[in-house]
Amino acid sequence: MTALPGTHEPRGRPYVGRLAPSPTGALHVGNVRTFLVAWLRARQEDGRLLLRIEDLDHPKVKRGASRALLEDLRWLGLDWDEGPERGGPHAPYVQSRRSAHYRRALGRLAAGGHLYACSCTRRDVTSSASAPHGLDGPLYPGTCRDRFPGWHAAQLAARPRAAAIRFRVPPQAHVRVRDRFAPPLDAPAHRIGDFVVARHGASHAYQLAVVVDDLAMGVTEVVRGDDLLPSTPRQILLYRALGHEPPAFVHLPLVVGPDGRRLAKRHGDTRIAAIRAAGARPAALLGWLARSLGIDVDAVEHPEALLAAFRLDAVPPEPCVLEPERFAREIGIAPAALGA
Ligand code: GLU
Repeated sequence: MTALPGTHEPRGRPYVGRLAPSPTGALHVGNVRTFLVAWLRARQEDGRLLLRIEDLDHPKVKRGASRALLEDLRWLGLDWDEGPERGGPHAPYVQSRRSAHYRRALGRLAAGGHLYACSCTRRDVTSSASAPHGLDGPLYPGTCRDRFPGWHAAQLAARPRAAAIRFRVPPQAHVRVRDRFAPPLDAPAHRIGDFVVARHGASHAYQLAVVVDDLAMGVTEVVRGDDLLPSTPRQILLYRALGHEPPAFVHLPLVVGPDGRRLAKRHGDTRIAAIRAAGARPAALLGWLARSLGIDVDAVEHPEALLAAFRLDAVPPEPCVLEPERFAREIGIAPAALGA
């Protein structure tokens, strides 16, 4: 993961980046800010950029959201070289159609002794009095670690739909995430905890799917929001267990409201769809995004116009505060149009 002089990529591999939206709702300003950075990184490096739809979070996936988010990204002038409608060498680019890849990886991990079956419900984990806090939630206390001889036995013991497959984090593991933007993160095994890689039935958990896909698609740099930083040590352990080095990571601070909390309805409507419907021009929104990334510009007709000026080390390290009324005015629409 160390950069070579003059290139961003380990061992001089050509840059491959990705946009990995989840069709669980409409894209908002925070999502597109991260996607703009992912796009700029790939284009500055003359690399390839792929788009992958991450639709495994079934109850939350919304009909029509995939098409809508592709349209929003295109409206902003972002493009990609491989993806669901374009195709490419790593198709399909939709996670719900990639289960064969996840099953194969589970097989390899199981053969390496990295997995065990677990019958705990989410409630069992959160209510366990002995569960200390991990990187981003209650730590799995290891209840099922050496409990079941196999998956079938765990399924029989589980309450309906509870059985899951967990990754066994070696007790001596210590993961250091050296991010290209965020400060380094140290994660000893006792703060990671054995984590779920597949749930009941065929639905594979985020941690496994994202690693398997980024590996299969040859991704060299992952650019995403820093809400996912706590997942990164788990993903690094999966890369290693699958016999690969992880890609480089760029975790960017999120866009928050004036109260410092993640963008939500109470901050006004910051969905790209609403901004478009209110009559904003993409150039105005691009200008706002660029300024939030440390580039001193007004309107920006196309993301390409930012290629010369964008520098990751000029991006402010703190969360980007969106003040709803000011934001609306700066992108040329009436605050009331966004409920600000
Ligand atoms: N699909 C995830 C999201 O929209 C991003 C996953 C990732 O970048 O690793 O939050």
